[in-house]
Amino acid sequence: MFDVVVIGGGLAGLACGVALADSGVRVAVIERDGRLGGRAGSWAHSGTGDMVDVGPHVVHTEYRDMLALLERLGTRDLITWHMDKVLTIASKPRPVVLRHWPLPPPFSLFPSLLGAPGLTIRDCLSMRATTWKTMQFGEEQVPALDRMSALDFLRAQGVSQPMIDWWWKFAAMVVTNVPLEHCSAAALMRIHAQLSGHRRLHFGFAAVGLAELFAQQASQAIEAAGGRVLTGREVRAFIGSDRVEGVVLDEGTRLQAAHCVSAVPPQELAPLVPDAWKSRQPFDALAAFEPSPYVSCYLWFDRQVLNERFFAHLWSPTRLNYDFYDLSRIRRGWADRPSVIASNIIYSHRAHGMSDEDIVQATVRELAEFAPEAANAQVLHADVHHIPMAIPCPTPGTERKRPHTRTPIPGLVLAGDWVQTHLPCSMESAVRSGWLAAEQVLAERGSPRQIALPQRPYDGLAGLVRRATCWYRGRTAAGKTDP
Ligand SMILES: Cc1cc2nc3c(=O)[nH]c(=O)nc-3n(C[C@H](O)[C@H](O)[C@H](O)COP(=O)(O)OP(=O)(O)OC[C@H]3O[C@@H](n4cnc5c(N)ncnc54)[C@H](O)[C@@H]3O)c2cc1C
Repeated sequence: MFDVVVIGGGLAGLACGVALADSGVRVAVIERDGRLGGRAGSWAHSGTGDMVDVGPHVVHTEYRDMLALLERLGTRDLITWHMDKVLTIASKPRPVVLRHWPLPPPFSLFPSLLGAPGLTIRDCLSMRATTWKTMQFGEEQVPALDRMSALDFLRAQGVSQPMIDWWWKFAAMVVTNVPLEHCSAAALMRIHAQLSGHRRLHFGFAAVGLAELFAQQASQAIEAAGGRVLTGREVRAFIGSDRVEGVVLDEGTRLQAAHCVSAVPPQELAPLVPDAWKSRQPFDALAAFEPSPYVSCYLWFDRQVLNERFFAHLWSPTRLNYDFYDLSRIRRGWADRPSVIASNIIYSHRAHGMSDEDIVQATVRELAEFAPEAANAQVLHADVHHIPMAIPCPTPGTERKRPHTRTPIPGLVLAGDWVQTHLPCSMESAVRSGWLAAEQVLAERGSPRQIALPQRPYDGLAGLVRRATCWYRGRTAAGKTDP
């Protein structure tokens, strides 16, 4: 008998399981796949024995909950931080290196853009109104901004077409995983405010297989507290209809528990929902979450082909790949090895009719646009991963459909990157959702505890403007309600 059953052994389910185990709760985590990790999973590549991930991932310095989870699991130092620059953009005729200049947020990256080929000072100045809005941005603006597309929003703010084509089309794809015209203005502004509002924000990468950062360690923490982590077992149904009292597994085993945390994506939750709940919120919106598919490519070369750890191509209607990573410069102990390149084809519909061989050839070609040596080198092994969903697309209207962890069904709590965390769907959102779900369960068990960390306020001028905005809005609202 367990106190809580968690469905799904991805980051959300495991973060929830660890937090509950640390509070003395006996948890059973049920994972359908033979390995833990979900969309942040890793496995040994059959040709080389190297650990590969579902696809290459980045974290950043404001991933507070995820970094705290890694701290708890003893793996925080297994992140390779990319501190000398933020990102190299393979623009033509010369690359642009985005790095923080000694200016207060949100201006620290601006000087890098000033030198970008194809952008004039006028284009950069066309970002004035957006920058002002970004400094004022807070979650209270999400409902209104979520009604419009990011493209319409930027045009309404006077952003020039070259700036939209050069920067924003690229930014929308790499940070929200959806084309600018299909992206919610709220989703884009939220990420933009976070990335530009924090001092010296930098990216980092797993120095080992991504799941090696958390899967086994989380499993051990849960089992040390008397829980179980079962892999290769699928949850087929909930027990109970007015109140969830456990789950039924693939071959009919029933696991009773006072609480059940669903930590699976919306598409996987839908078949578990009994007919009687289907018209009720939040279950009536599950079909509205459109997946953003990815294709990730791993290439083992016979030599070093890249002088960068990480670079990205700008948006183009004809190119497939955006972000490229040289794992020989990222993975611990690989420094003397020839390049192992991982790349992401984001929102990959345009690659879906292609064979793996064609995808590999196109990826080598696109890599060689920035790293010419790739065209001369031999590809020793190649691996193409087709991923039906990296995250749900943040299209306009999606934000208000993201459900809270608490559901109208007693005993059932939701987690997963897609639930309402006030963060973009990501590993950080997954961990935070798991912790919010654990908080909900603990509160219902009569032992409330705060686990999720508060987000850090913006720094520099961005922080000043945001604080002044909150003060002014608070004063205006108080004035309106004063008799
Ligand atoms: C290629 C790629 C690149 C990405 N890049 C980044 C990045 O750079 N930075 C970032 O922060 N995020 C990135 N993401 C997103 C990130 O991986 C996800 O947001 C996060 O891993 C989601 O975790 P989760 O626990 O919410 O869901 P999942 O990882 O999907 O976990 C759900 C688990 O539930 C299991 N399951 C489903 N149904 C059942 C059932 N009935 N019974 C039992 N188990 C079930 C699944 O097998 C799965 O393991 C990327 C994702 C991909 C795929």
